[in-house]
This record gives sequence, structure tokens and C-alpha cells, in this order.
Amino acid sequence: LAGRGFRPEGTVITFPNGVKVGGKEVTIMAGPCSVESREQILLSAQQVKAAGAQFLRGGAYKPRSSPYSFQGMGVEGLKLLREVGDITGLLVITEVMEISQIEPMLPYIDCFQVGARNMQNFNLLRELGHVRKPVLMKRGISATIEEVLLSAEYILSGGNYDLMLCERGIRTYETATRNTMDISAIPVLKKLTHLPVFGDPSHGVGIREFVPAMALASVAAGADGLLMEMHPNPDKAMSDGAQSLFPDQLTKLIEQLRQLAPVV
Ligand code: PEP
Ligand code: MN
Repeated sequence: LAGRGFRPEGTVITFPNGVKVGGKEVTIMAGPCSVESREQILLSAQQVKAAGAQFLRGGAYKPRSSPYSFQGMGVEGLKLLREVGDITGLLVITEVMEISQIEPMLPYIDCFQVGARNMQNFNLLRELGHVRKPVLMKRGISATIEEVLLSAEYILSGGNYDLMLCERGIRTYETATRNTMDISAIPVLKKLTHLPVFGDPSHGVGIREFVPAMALASVAAGADGLLMEMHPNPDKAMSDGAQSLFPDQLTKLIEQLRQLAPVV
């Protein structure tokens, strides 16, 4: 079902406000790694909107490497995302970590994000195949392209065709960057599947100064969209501050992206 031959013209996902993902225009999803407070997420939403993005991202449930790190605001975070999404007219995407979170998330969000660590949580994927809400699934930290496509099948075979894939860096021997952004995954996936393909340069490199180059490279390589971290005050971020763009960097980057491709 994920194969290009199933839909040679490519999948276009239309969101409730009319935004289309997978069409001729590049979609920008941006925002902080985590929802931290009403003030922080409202300011983030205003900045993301002003920069020209269509989606606000922000984690309410966070998959942290350490159980002692900030784990996210939970349902309170979801409510804040919805509130500021409505205020600014942005669509909202946030990560779902387990089956029990799906139902409570439905009223608040426009798109589910499956994180790298859950790309092979097959029970979660199967369940997301039964919801009527789009899903963006990230590539696992050491997943092959074939494994990405097989995980996509779990969602598609349940009947949910509103699926986007996202390259977010893979683990290699290289330690100069947090992960190794596999730009080649973008054209390879575009050839193999009809599903929209995103790049996440923030987790891809993990270092703010290299994010714009990888964002531009993703779009040059054919990405349908970008998922990026931006924080009003990255130095104070509760997670992933080092890879979060400053608001004015996001604005400048989107201007640069417009030279390469039409941005929604
Ligand atoms: C995130 O988007 O903040 C995140 C946790 O991403 P990933 O699943 O790619 O690590
Ligand atoms: Mn993050």
C-alpha cells in the first residue's frame, strides 16, 4: 500500500482549514520541542505563524532518554496547543507515545506524530491505522528504508491513508553531530512511496547552526515539508534547546526556502 505504484500521482493530505500537504508547496511545521507553559507556547505560536509556517509542533508527552528529565505537560499541554493553535490559526501536531493517549488526544490535535523511538511500536501503529486523523511517522534511529516502509504499512493497512514520513537523522559512527541526517533518504523515499516525505533537520543534526543548511538540503532533495524546532528563548528550553532555532532564524530560513521551492 505504501508503494509508489499504488498512487503514482502521490498522496495529498487536506487538513480541516484547507492546508494541503504533499502538493506542489512545501509545508512548514515548527515550534518548541516541548510545551512548557501557556506563555511559552503562545509566544512560540505567534512567532511560528509570523515566520510563515502552517503547523505548530510541541510535545506534551516526551520520550526522554532519562526518566529524570522533563517528561512533558501531558493533557494540559494538549489543551494549550489547541488554544494557541486556534488563536493563531495554526494546525497542531504533537507526539503520541502509547495507545492509551490516542483517544484523549483526538479533540485537541490536527496530526499525530510518531517518534523515532516508536517507529517499530507495531501495536501503536496498528491502532493509528484506525483513527481518522493524519499521522506523521518518523524514521527510527537505526531503521532502514525498508523498515520505514513496512512500519507505514501497519498504519495504511488499517485504513488510514493520511500518512507522512519523516527523515530525522540516523545513528552512525559519527559524533560531530547528534545524528547523521540522511538526506538521501528523501529522494529514495520519494521514488519508492507516494506518501509525503518530510525532513527534520533539528533532530537530524542536533546543532542549531547546521539546521538551516540541512533544511535547505532537504527541500532541494525533494522534501514535501519540514519539521523544525524553534523556541522563543532556546537557552532556557526544557528540552532540545541546542538544536532549536531562534525565532528570527526561522523567519530568515523560510525566506531562503522560498527561493528554492514554493512554501505554502
Ligand atoms: C521530537 O520531535 O521532539 C522528537 C522527540 O523527535 P524524535 O522522535 O525524532 O527523536
Ligand atoms: Mn525534540
